[in-house]
Amino acid sequence: MTPSAPVIDLHTHSTASDGTDSPTALVESAVAAGVDVLAITDHDTVAGWDESTGAALRLGIGLVRGIEISCKRDGRSIHLLGYLTDPASPDLMTELARARESRTTRLERMVCKMAEAGIPLTYAEVLAQVAPGATPGRPHIADALIANGTITHRDEAFASWLHDGSEFYVHHYSLDPVEAVRLVREAGGVAVHAHPFTRTRARVAPDELVEEMAAAGLAGLEVDHRDHGADERRRAGDLARALGLLVTGSSDYHGTGKRNRLAEHTTRAEVLAQIEERSSGVTQVVRP
Ligand code: AMP
Ligand code: ZN
Ligand code: FE
Ligand code: FE
Repeated sequence: MTPSAPVIDLHTHSTASDGTDSPTALVESAVAAGVDVLAITDHDTVAGWDESTGAALRLGIGLVRGIEISCKRDGRSIHLLGYLTDPASPDLMTELARARESRTTRLERMVCKMAEAGIPLTYAEVLAQVAPGATPGRPHIADALIANGTITHRDEAFASWLHDGSEFYVHHYSLDPVEAVRLVREAGGVAVHAHPFTRTRARVAPDELVEEMAAAGLAGLEVDHRDHGADERRRAGDLARALGLLVTGSSDYHGTGKRNRLAEHTTRAEVLAQIEERSSGVTQVVRP
């Protein structure tokens, strides 16, 4: 009998950004969901790495330490997963710190605009939803509106006030995606384009951008993801094949903040092995 394939989920969020599980609770949830290897990929931060490492070692589960970098090109939002980067890499870490700083002022501006329009909300209420040291994001505005009884789920806030095209939307500083790939590589990490053809976005990213990222050292595409329908999956899979990129799948779990369930999409063990092989080895996969 062949042993069953390991369950590998390479994209999740904790309270170090906009997930609702603490890094420890995230690892516990992964164990409960039957995950064998989990990646923690909080937005623009490594703040959840130490706690999740301790929990993974304690609970006997594999852990890939990663980040999800919010990038922008021509006003279009692009997310880049960086796995196994060196957390002491000065250029990458400086850019992430700059993004987090800008996210804070941006959130305050969004809250101001919303409050002026009569939406019952204060900046203090929003800050109360952000864990100490966490990357603030729009979901924390939604959480404040849940806490004060205005709505019952983050979805409602995104449908009305928080989506990219909203009158209340304010940009934050973010890296160009090609520059981000370069910085992840320079930090010894492995770059994977997260949900490249997300259906919920106003405009679809062009293939040419992925080609440009591939030329800069992009390793893979997250093909299997809830935000991709059959067409997007086919398109991403074809593009990965044409460009010789790895294919990953993952949940993008955010705890109770999103409907995505752990391991609803997974990555093959051979692909994880490639990711490990292509990293510098400064940051390693935590193994039980
Ligand atoms: P920001 O990082 O501030 O630009 O906010 C983007 C984050 O909001 C993403 O990481 C998404 O996970 C989250 N998000 C987007 N749409 C929704 C939604 N409908 N419900 C819950 N979370 C969402
Ligand atoms: Zn998120
Ligand atoms: Fe994302
Ligand atoms: Fe994500």
